[in-house]
Amino acid sequence: VISCKNLYKSYFQGKLEVPVLQGVNLSLSRGEMVSVVGASGSGKSTLLHLLGGLDSPSKGEILLLGQGLTTISEEKRCQLRNHSIGFIYQFHHLLPEFSAQENVAMPLLIRRMNKQEAMERAADMLQHVGLSHRLTHTPGELSGGERQRAAVARALVTQPACVLADEPTGNLDRHTAEGVFNLMLELNRKVNATLVIVTHDPQLANQAERVLQLIDGVLV
Ligand code: ATP
Ligand code: MG
Repeated sequence: VISCKNLYKSYFQGKLEVPVLQGVNLSLSRGEMVSVVGASGSGKSTLLHLLGGLDSPSKGEILLLGQGLTTISEEKRCQLRNHSIGFIYQFHHLLPEFSAQENVAMPLLIRRMNKQEAMERAADMLQHVGLSHRLTHTPGELSGGERQRAAVARALVTQPACVLADEPTGNLDRHTAEGVFNLMLELNRKVNATLVIVTHDPQLANQAERVLQLIDGVLV
């Protein structure tokens, strides 16, 4: 589903080159679930951004569903991203002025599904994450855990081939974090998506099929 070969990424602070990723290799098949751990600043978020086509590597190739992300046009890349990737972040990034149901329907509407069907699917997905009683609540009217569950629903509603989650439980207490984490595993299995989850929590990380550690710019 997703792979990268000899991936390099540096940032520039003025003229100073700051190398972050220095030859990352990764290959994930459909339905696989891996966690990525590593010190703060080791490049975990950078790696997810590259895999999701949100940023370009300095060197190396990324294949998403057989397509080279660095070789296709920006338009094609955007389309591929919308159709095959779901993102979940530490902070939910739900749109504050829309209801939970509208937020979850949004990725479907972007894909030009008609409004009624999109809203029905969103309600369905929110039921899966235990929020059927919160459809009309705005993010400000939800608890932290509920907001993350809504974000999980939004990421999975399109049945993406791949879900990239950057510390999706980093902002939650242990009990709530475990609930959201297990929910992600369960839904992930249901849609058979490949899941890459960045987490600081070793207990959660160890529940993945593989634990990848970013050290000195490479994955081990
Ligand atoms: P954390 O666990 O704290 O989230 P991380 O592993 O996700 O850390 P990244 O956010 O990928 O780390 O950042 C890796 C390094 O790249 C850091 O040293 C950071 O300062 C630098 N960096 C990240 N984004 C940029 C940017 N847009 N411009 C310049 N430097 C950046
Ligand atoms: Mg990060």
